[in-house]
Amino acid sequence: MGLAALLFPLRCVRCGADAAELPLCPPCAAELPHLESACPRCAEPLPRTGVCGRCLAEPPPFVRVLAPFLLAAPVADWILGLKEGGQLHLGALLGGLLARHVDRCGTAVDALVPVPLHWRRRLRRGFNQSLEIARSAGRHLDVPVRPRWLARVRPGPDQRRLPLAQRAASVHRAFRASDRVAGLRIALVDDVVTTTATARAATAALLAAGAAAVEVWAVARTALENGPSAGNNGLFARRAPWPNPVSPTSGKS
Ligand SMILES: [Zn+2]
Ligand SMILES: [Zn+2]
Repeated sequence: MGLAALLFPLRCVRCGADAAELPLCPPCAAELPHLESACPRCAEPLPRTGVCGRCLAEPPPFVRVLAPFLLAAPVADWILGLKEGGQLHLGALLGGLLARHVDRCGTAVDALVPVPLHWRRRLRRGFNQSLEIARSAGRHLDVPVRPRWLARVRPGPDQRRLPLAQRAASVHRAFRASDRVAGLRIALVDDVVTTTATARAATAALLAAGAAAVEVWAVARTALENGPSAGNNGLFARRAPWPNPVSPTSGKS
C-alpha cells in the first residue's frame, strides 16, 4: 500500500466500506456484471464458446475486444454518471477495473489511444469519457496514453438513433490516425462497444497509418439484440437491485 492510500483510505463507491487500490470493496467487485461467455474476437455475449457468426462472416480488423463487463447496473450507471453527469472520478474507477481485467488477460501494448469525440461534441461535453478511462487504465498499467494519435474527422449523427447498417456507414472514414502509430501495438480504448462499427472504423484508420496491431479495450459490452434498436433507454434499461450512489440520470427521462 502506497503512502497516499495510507493517508487517504479509499471508500467503496457502492457500500462505503474500506477499499484498497480501487474505490470498490472486494464483495461489491465480485457482484459486478462480469462478461463470462463471449466471442473471443468481438466480445459479443454468447451462450456458448466459439467465434460469433458476424466475426466469421466479416472478420474484424482488430485482434480482439477485451471487455470486463456487460452493460448492466451498476457499471451502466457509472458509465452514464461519467458521460452525462461529468463525474470524472467514475472514469478513474472504470479505468482501474478495465486495467485489472486486461492485466489478467495477459496482453501487452505500446500505447493506449482513446476513441475520440468529434471536437464539437467534446466542446459541448467538456471532456472525452474514453480519454478519462484510458488515462486511469494507463496509470494502472504504466502504458502511455496518446489521445492525439487518432482524430474524428467527421462528426457523424448520434449512433444510438441509427439502425445497424447505417451505423457502419456513418463511421466509415470518420477517423484519421497519426503515423506516430507506425509499428506499434495499440489498444483502442472505449467506454462501451455495441455494434463494433466504431471500433472497426477506428482500427482501420490506425492500421492504415501503420499500426502493427490493434486491440480494443472497452469497459462494457452490450449484446447486439439489446443494442441498436433499443436506443439509450434500452441500453441502460437493466436497472438495479443496486442502490445507485451516483444519481447520474437526474434531469433525464
Ligand atoms: Zn462495497
Ligand atoms: Zn464476434
